[in-house]
Amino acid sequence: MSHPQRITVLGATGSIGLSTLDVIARHPERYQVFALSGFSRLGELEQLCLKHRPQFAVVADADAARVLQGGLQAAGLATRVLWGEAGLCEISAHPDVDAVMAAIVGAAGLQPTLAAVEAGKKVLLANKEALVMSGALFMQAVRKSGAVLLPIDSEHNAIFQCLPGDYARGLPAVGVRRILLTASGGPFRETPLADLEHVSPEQACAHPNWSMGRKISVDSASMMNKGLELIEACWLFDARPAQVEVVIHPQSVIHSLVDYVDGSVLAQMGNPDMRTPIAHALAWPQRIDSGVPPLDLFAVARLDFQRPDEQRFPCLRLARQAAEAGGTAPAMLNAANEVAVAAFLERRIRFPEIAGIIDEVLNLEATVPVGSLESVLQADARARSLAGEWLNRHGR
Ligand code: NAD
Ligand code: MG
Repeated sequence: MSHPQRITVLGATGSIGLSTLDVIARHPERYQVFALSGFSRLGELEQLCLKHRPQFAVVADADAARVLQGGLQAAGLATRVLWGEAGLCEISAHPDVDAVMAAIVGAAGLQPTLAAVEAGKKVLLANKEALVMSGALFMQAVRKSGAVLLPIDSEHNAIFQCLPGDYARGLPAVGVRRILLTASGGPFRETPLADLEHVSPEQACAHPNWSMGRKISVDSASMMNKGLELIEACWLFDARPAQVEVVIHPQSVIHSLVDYVDGSVLAQMGNPDMRTPIAHALAWPQRIDSGVPPLDLFAVARLDFQRPDEQRFPCLRLARQAAEAGGTAPAMLNAANEVAVAAFLERRIRFPEIAGIIDEVLNLEATVPVGSLESVLQADARARSLAGEWLNRHGR
């Protein structure tokens, strides 16, 4: 490509968004920021605009757009400020965009990510919730538009790196027996079970190895993150849930593995820093510097592995069940989880109640096949309303 690649960063003010901008800033000759989006931290988004000088910025609503537009104009910037889902879809599908980093958290990322896919962009997918909700439709849209979908989630990026290029023909066709999805086990891996009733949002967000947004940090503590990733892996790599095994690996140095029929097991390793998968996907199939220091195996010294305990981590079991049920079950699982995690962060429920709410929502609502985006959005709304009812009855 003769010009620098023009990148839209959805969720620029978040953990993945900032890591992406860090990698981009290391390679001004290769990448240029085309558009940035942010939701709540307007001042931070303004600073990012002043630094990266995008053509567009997108915020939550018209009021925020007016404030940011005024600030940027006063600073002499020509950035146009848009707002809402329509604005997000516009910067995702804009004809001048080469690649889109999809790093909005949660279901809010679905429509803008799909807009990038439908426009046939190179899509760097961090927003796993979008794929979990709408897997079949999402992957159909990728095939139809010819979009290049590159996983940013460290595990899926690792698996992508360990698979041959022609795995799209099917995992058995390229000799894959299993995918081994590694998990750190989060901050509560060894907490006595009885104490989980009393853990705080701060404890849940204090991840031992990774620094991440609050929602995914709680998901890591409950291991729902690994459950969502199991579903994500099935869609990305055309795997059955039974072909994906979760392995607890507390050091987070092996980011996942692929087990081949000849007994070879390929792993991707590195320091736990999201700039590695981000740089990998940005430059793919080339390699660029990410700013991540080299892995010091002598400092790591040992690698441990454990089988996950489903009594401790019921969310993992619920996610596997939803993966096997298919249809609208993953969208409902995801929506109930988003409501429950938000309630936990607001101290309205206790940590073990996250799994309790999801279990109840999945039991109350029958799974139906996914025919259209409408049916996904309906399942999402229904699960949110059932979870909300649970909170009204039992929440503080
Ligand atoms: P974060 O909370 O740090 O950032 C989220 C971003 O989304 C922010 O820019 C925020 O302004 C924006 N946002 C939030 N709600 C929004 C809404 N309703 N509409 C529009 N924008 C909204 O989260 P994060 O840790 O950067 O994670 C982002 C995504 O990447 C998540 O889906 C997460 O699962 C995935 N991911 C993150 C990591 C990580 O290391 N942080 C690793 C793998 C995958
Ligand atoms: Mg991950």
